[in-house]
Amino acid sequence: MNVAIICTGDELLKGAVTNTNLRFMGEQLLANGIIPSFAMEVRDGMEAIRDALDTAFSKADTVIVSGGLGPTSDDITKEAAAEFFQLPLVQDDKVHLSLMKLWHKYKEEGRDTPSRFLNQSMIPEGAETLPNRCGTAPGIYLETERGNLLLLPGPPVELEQMFSKQVMPILLEKRSREIHSVLLHVAGVPESEVEERMLPLISPKLSAAYCASPGLVKLFLSSPDMDFLRERLQSVKKEFQKELLNCRHTSLQEEVVRILERSGLTLATAESCTGGLIAERITDVPGSSNIFLGSVVSYSNELKERLLNVSPETLERYGAVSAETCNEMLNGISAATGADVVLAVTGIAGPGGGTVEKPVGLVYTGIRINGENFVTENHFSGNRQQVRERTCAAVLNELRIRLG
Ligand code: ATP
Repeated sequence: MNVAIICTGDELLKGAVTNTNLRFMGEQLLANGIIPSFAMEVRDGMEAIRDALDTAFSKADTVIVSGGLGPTSDDITKEAAAEFFQLPLVQDDKVHLSLMKLWHKYKEEGRDTPSRFLNQSMIPEGAETLPNRCGTAPGIYLETERGNLLLLPGPPVELEQMFSKQVMPILLEKRSREIHSVLLHVAGVPESEVEERMLPLISPKLSAAYCASPGLVKLFLSSPDMDFLRERLQSVKKEFQKELLNCRHTSLQEEVVRILERSGLTLATAESCTGGLIAERITDVPGSSNIFLGSVVSYSNELKERLLNVSPETLERYGAVSAETCNEMLNGISAATGADVVLAVTGIAGPGGGTVEKPVGLVYTGIRINGENFVTENHFSGNRQQVRERTCAAVLNELRIRLG
């Protein structure tokens, strides 16, 4: 499947509105392993939209257009599409009826509504409408010999729900008819390394797409040949072995929760620089109450001493961000909760607080399992949020490996 995106609107070209629709659609497509071939921003003009459609269909088989479906005079996307495909615009009775009801209601309320309002029920002949739960203009889906066209309303609140609830399922269903695909999650390996190690396995019959988030790379494999895909999947599994999540799981936290559940083990966390992020991730997973006892967010030294029994001498001698403090946090949270497995993290998320010996990004992550403590010194790059996210991913991945 080859997708192109056209975003219409004078306001986009003038820089008056940021094109968040393109970002949203790009993210959603990428999350499903589809990378659009290209995207365009065009004016609200008949010729501009027709030309854009011509260019788009010369390079792609699926074209998504945003904007210009509303009732105002500059909303001409449907007209331009109908003209491009030389199709008449015909009335969709169901949409017409619901618009009529609204029109009468507005009239009763004394709101002056131009008759153009009802034009929103006109669609190119042969097209289907996509219901709009946040506005009045329906989306439009048209299958033609040149390819498939999807017209979506411009307001982000309308486009976003329509895109994720209606457009993505259409695209995924279409793709599954042409191509077989599988989604894998590789943990703890940078995206560039995943790509490098995949190179020998790629062939004209197998394509791969990558989508990275902290600590995890989504790896989409697709092929028109199911047997070939199955065979290559075995090679990919061999290449990444322990770095691959169970294929039913989509996140590190989900994998960790399920392993703990299976092993009948409980978990507690002691968090400093992550401020409860690890606990949030764990409790995002449905069923985590079976294994998660709770967390102490010991941001201050005082709470590290009072709640986790970290000794003042350790804090004084080695500092709050040190392997020694992390080790005592592990002992403290273990004693306080009685959990079978505990995690502790302490570090400098920045932007301030770094020194030459202890720079921003220095984080100690600790795991206590079977009565033994393991503390790791990490140096993460990135801003405050990235350091926190990377800390969370690193400690969950280490726990996954140690439990495995
Ligand atoms: P309406 O009924 O509001 O006219 P429409 O489908 O005709 O809906 P547009 O007129 O193109 O959509 O856009 C409506 C509003 O949505 C614009 O004023 C703009 O604020 C916003 N918008 C349009 N396109 C985008 C975009 N690509 N990214 C972000 N916002 C957008």
